[in-house]
Amino acid sequence: SKGRPPDCKIVVLGNSGVGKSALIVRFLTNRFIWEYDPTLERTYKHQVQLDEEPILMEILDTAGQEETIQQEGNIRWADGFVLVYAINDRQSFEAAGTLKQHLDQVKKTNVQCMLVGNKVDLLHERRVTTNEGEALALELSCGFFETSASDGGEEISEVFHELLRDIKRRKSVE
Ligand code: GDP
Ligand code: MG
Repeated sequence: SKGRPPDCKIVVLGNSGVGKSALIVRFLTNRFIWEYDPTLERTYKHQVQLDEEPILMEILDTAGQEETIQQEGNIRWADGFVLVYAINDRQSFEAAGTLKQHLDQVKKTNVQCMLVGNKVDLLHERRVTTNEGEALALELSCGFFETSASDGGEEISEVFHELLRDIKRRKSVE
């Protein structure tokens, strides 16, 4: 049942407006909702069947990354991270790189994470190339996906499933 403690705890981070809330809701419900309270911070419990094994995940949707003390608590709580930027927002891309270094520092390890370039439907506004995303992911030792929360698609589930697999793999060797 969903009352038991989660097997995997995931925190979704990234600049405000990149589509964190939209991505999570798309993953959980396969629907797209245009407007979210930008200050909303909440967790979702969600059960997935991963390679024939049931896994209860808890996902934290963050907002307002300036409250660093609370954020450090969130970072310590997490088993893995989804770092989101928007492909039409260079600043959010640069912020994602800085954020990963901060996560590694707080957790004192190379954290499990997926780098996600969201809003690929806005092709005509693209400011970050796919190659740049791949190169940063390689440098940060993250997985990499480009997604569109508004169009949907397989990639959004893959982001979370790949991250769960990475987390499971690490837990089994610890
Ligand atoms: P958050 O602050 O990172 O949680 O971002 P939100 O999920 O609230 O999304 C911010 C804005 O971007 C909203 O107006 C969303 O409708 C829009 N948005 C989110 N994802 C996408 C996407 O994939 N494509 C497009 N075109 N807009 C998106
Ligand atoms: Mg949000």
